Amino acid sequence: MRLPERVDNWIDGAACPAASGATIEIVEPATGRAFGRLAASGAADVDAAHAAAARAFPAWRDVGPAARADALERLAALIERDLDRLALFESADTGKPRSLARSVDIPRAAANFRFFAGLVRGWTPDEDLAAPHAVSRVLRRPVGVAGCISPWNLPLYLFTWKVAPALAAGCTVVAKPSEETPLTAAALGELGREAGLPPGVLNVVQGRGAECGAAIVAHPGIPVISFTGGTETGARIMSVAGPMFKTVALELGGKNPTIVFGDADVDQAVAGAVNAAFRNQGQICLCGSRILVERSIYPRVRDAVVARASALRIGDPLDDATEQGSLVSAAHRSKVAAAVERARAEGGRILCGGGPPDPATLPERVRGGAFFRPTVIEGLPMDCATNQEEIFGPVVTIQPFEGEAEAVALANASTYGLAASIWTADRARAMRVAEQVECGIVWLNTWMLRDLRVPFGGMKRSGVGREGGEDALRLFTEPKSVTWPA
Ligand code: NDP
Repeated sequence: MRLPERVDNWIDGAACPAASGATIEIVEPATGRAFGRLAASGAADVDAAHAAAARAFPAWRDVGPAARADALERLAALIERDLDRLALFESADTGKPRSLARSVDIPRAAANFRFFAGLVRGWTPDEDLAAPHAVSRVLRRPVGVAGCISPWNLPLYLFTWKVAPALAAGCTVVAKPSEETPLTAAALGELGREAGLPPGVLNVVQGRGAECGAAIVAHPGIPVISFTGGTETGARIMSVAGPMFKTVALELGGKNPTIVFGDADVDQAVAGAVNAAFRNQGQICLCGSRILVERSIYPRVRDAVVARASALRIGDPLDDATEQGSLVSAAHRSKVAAAVERARAEGGRILCGGGPPDPATLPERVRGGAFFRPTVIEGLPMDCATNQEEIFGPVVTIQPFEGEAEAVALANASTYGLAASIWTADRARAMRVAEQVECGIVWLNTWMLRDLRVPFGGMKRSGVGREGGEDALRLFTEPKSVTWPA
């Protein structure tokens, strides 16, 4: 199976290059080699995509939820049919193990379409309200053209997490994947045509965030922006979209605690903590990057976490035995390496990892890749930069706590508030702590268990608004109340 050498925009049901003709090199991070070129789009391409989406909107809105759901289910089936091709694309773009893309990223992308198809079929958006003096009906209608911007870490999975509810709700879409990971979003445009999406319903514009992404955010004809990415970028988007009174949902970074109490099943908690820290090379907003362990079991848990992290197999993402692939780029690896150096300077003890693997230990094909060993750091206070700033790589800190109150205080000593996982045999305590941690998502004795019905998103610097379930359908629709005397 070959990788595409050229990746274009998908506008109005057809592939097209950037209006300027400009392109960007696409690099496979696991090898460090370029394999193709990507359309470097700008405002003119976003204008063209918007025009197509605006033309397609009335018919897509009016076709009704059942027809839209049928189309989305066909698209889900096509993603499943093309599982191998899409998993290869995702792995080549990101450096993640192909087995992970096959078992998680791509199936979850298909699941997003199936879920929102099912949800919109049964959704009654209008609501009747009666009171002695008045009767009201609240109508909810799709807002128009939706702008969706997604990051590089879970490319198709997060792209479809936005596109699927937008389309289900009856919006048409102008969407941009990260320039680092364009392949699967481009493939989705074509699969959409095969699934019977009318031209202009789903438009994919490729290119850099600062040009193409910024043009989507600033476009006056795009009233809703759904964005997943870094907190700084989210703030920039808010500063542009706010004065334009756009509806905005921002899913941003995290510095999530994994809290292990003394009564937890230690084997399960250790496996969970290591999975939460290092899945996808630690490049998931939900990753547990701060492990907090009750002092009574701290040495045991710390040693087991270090042993497990050290044993994770780093290798060619195409090898099914590989557990840790490459980071997304050499530039990102440099940032992660700098963060580890800063941790050292802050007095942290590096218990394992701490740098790239010896290239001689890697298969020939990937010796030039952006690999980094899973790293566990101990001995840092909660207020240091290492424990405060998102690293977004295979780096986790670990520290002890004494009792529930300190666990909660440490968990909340962060400007982020996305997710937490709590490990304990005591359900009452789990619920007490879940109530008190300041974040939008809490898992009990598990991590990243997906329930698409629940609101998804964070507090504090982790974002604004919620996606998932009916919250996502509400994001892409606008309520209107109609009232008459009783
Ligand atoms: P970025 O914020 O750099 O980029 C995210 C997307 O925004 C990319 O498509 C990017 O394009 C685009 N973009 C960049 N600048 C602008 C701009 N000025 N206007 C509009 N769009 C822009 O994040 P990363 O791609 O580096 O992703 C990592 C971040 O995403 C981490 O902080 C992580 O925590 C967060 N994240 C949050 C999740 C959540 O649900 N809360 C889930 C997953 C990740 P390009 O890449 O082409 O420059």
